Amino acid sequence: MRIILMGPPGAGKGTQAKIIAGRFGIPAVSTGDIFRANVSQGTPLGVEAKRYMDAGDYVPDEVTNAMVRDRICQDDAKGGFLLDGYPRTVAQVAELDTMLADTGAALDAVVVLTVNDEELVQRLLNRAHVEGRTDDTEEVVRHRQDVYNEQTEPLLAVYDERGLLVRVDGIGTVDEVSARVFEALHASPDSAAI
Ligand code: ADP
Repeated sequence: MRIILMGPPGAGKGTQAKIIAGRFGIPAVSTGDIFRANVSQGTPLGVEAKRYMDAGDYVPDEVTNAMVRDRICQDDAKGGFLLDGYPRTVAQVAELDTMLADTGAALDAVVVLTVNDEELVQRLLNRAHVEGRTDDTEEVVRHRQDVYNEQTEPLLAVYDERGLLVRVDGIGTVDEVSARVFEALHASPDSAAI
């Protein structure tokens, strides 16, 4: 299984990524988590990424692409993976296509969690309270939404054209949402692979 999980900041990707990846026995590769781990360890990658993350901007494509290429080449990802937070730009889609072509692998599905803007801002401000992430202030949250709408939302049409897009309502309890994801994946044309 090779799955991309997409959705705006606050849609619940991180939570669902772990559940979905666990069910399919594949690693969840979360670019945000990898960046945050590097930030907290003070690595050169973390120092560079932090400047962009704190402003709510995307880390440059070359940096992100190299990191993902490195991660999905590792042994545990050879049989499949779930990407959480990647690709987010047109250039990242092209790079992922190249990575997959290099290994003769193909994507099975692109799951997008849909949540309305008002709910998203509430969730992110609440998360700021609970987790203390430095990019969850109201101003940065709104900027991240703008960046998502401008740079990442257009990718949905790209994957829709390829027949890979699966839209899932992201409002509800964690269990309700994951149940919808599994149902949608079984109902997709690639369900034979699951
Ligand atoms: P959210 O989905 O809530 O924005 P993430 O944890 O996925 O949170 O990402 C946090 C930050 O990490 C992003 O705002 C961005 O700065 C950086 N980041 C994560 N994934 C990417 C990516 N694919 N390309 C560029 N930057 C990324």
